[in-house]
Amino acid sequence: MSEGGHLSVRFWGVRGSIACPGPAYVRYGGNTSCVEVRCGPHLLIFDGGTGLRPLGEALKAGGPVEADLFFSHSHLDHVVGVPFFHTLFEPENRIRLWAGHLKPERGVRDVICALMTAPLFPVPVEIFSARTEFLDFAAGETLTPKPGVVLRTIALNHPNGSTGYRVDYAGKSVCYVTDTEHEPGRPDARIVDFIRGTDLFIYDATYTDEEYPRYATWGHSTWEEGVRLAKAARVKTLALFHHDPSHDDGAMDRIAAAAAAALPGAIAASEGLTIEL
Ligand SMILES: [Zn+2]
Ligand SMILES: [Zn+2]
Repeated sequence: MSEGGHLSVRFWGVRGSIACPGPAYVRYGGNTSCVEVRCGPHLLIFDGGTGLRPLGEALKAGGPVEADLFFSHSHLDHVVGVPFFHTLFEPENRIRLWAGHLKPERGVRDVICALMTAPLFPVPVEIFSARTEFLDFAAGETLTPKPGVVLRTIALNHPNGSTGYRVDYAGKSVCYVTDTEHEPGRPDARIVDFIRGTDLFIYDATYTDEEYPRYATWGHSTWEEGVRLAKAARVKTLALFHHDPSHDDGAMDRIAAAAAAALPGAIAASEGLTIEL
């Protein structure tokens, strides 16, 4: 485990919309959104897609777990891993689940309860034996989930809402901005301000600019928009994320190469990739 003033990021699921296993997806991975962020001894998790299951398996090895899980939003591809997150099934663990897009009509507990309800799912949330808390905030608030960890949040442009996050810790930062749609031809000034100067900018790159017109209003962005935002905000590293299931490894290689040509150092996130900041 990382110690002291150290910020690191590990990708457990990088896929958007639906998991896509199979031989065409082995290099970038088929699990849906889940990103582990370590701020020294503190564990933050962003989204509970199918990538949350292998993260839970990995956490088994390390003794009691204390973690904060922040949802961008509650569409299925971002929550479906929760009932399969082993960490929630051990009484010595403590997990807080947070969402910023549901207040005041609903709360994150309501959503997870709805997910784990017959006949959609056989067991209810009461099956979790870890100390589990459900916490709601309003996107735009700044949170301090742990001492020294500053978590800024921002409302994104997505059907039913979504929340972007910026973690600042020990002089380093990472931004998690997924499930958001841009306005073609005009970089979102709010997002540029939000991500300004960050060390790592993880961005919804579901489509290419060429594909985008067919999917306008679906709530997603493009890798080219990620490059434009990264340049405008002078971010250090852009990581493309939430890859469309139609983009197999070959397509992702082409996108990654084009992004790196447009912005040196830009990468396409892949399952298992770890970045030390
Ligand atoms: Zn999604
Ligand atoms: Zn969504």
